[in-house]
Amino acid sequence: MIIVSQLSNCVRCGTVFAKTIRDICPSCYREEEQAFQRVYRFLTKRKNREATIKEIVLATEVEEELIIKFMKENRLRTSQFPKLAYPCEKCGVDIVEGRLCYACSSEIKADLNMQNELDKLIQERKEREHESIYYTINKDDKQ
Ligand SMILES: [Zn+2]
Ligand SMILES: [Zn+2]
Repeated sequence: MIIVSQLSNCVRCGTVFAKTIRDICPSCYREEEQAFQRVYRFLTKRKNREATIKEIVLATEVEEELIIKFMKENRLRTSQFPKLAYPCEKCGVDIVEGRLCYACSSEIKADLNMQNELDKLIQERKEREHESIYYTINKDDKQ
């Protein structure tokens, strides 16, 4: 497989750049790194360890979205900073990892399982129909 470097628009500033594994351009990347360092330095002070995202935003002026992004990238871990939490994408409840809370993700899993079961049933029925046609043709007697 050949990996061709594609031109892409930076999702942050819209600049066209040669896309790498990142979806932001090098200058935005640098900015994000600086923001990360700011947040990280703030959080590693003993008195700030238990800061919430809102408090970090106030203190560092880094956007909430960016802080959540760092969390999703596992660069800020709640095992280290216990008060970090962001809203579940589905119901808005506070979560600390992934995109959905436990309830929403198990709900989605249940839906998926049901879909899988349905697919399996449909597939089985198709196979049975196929067999009965096969028998009809070959045995040439009652269905
Ligand atoms: Zn950019
Ligand atoms: Zn949820």
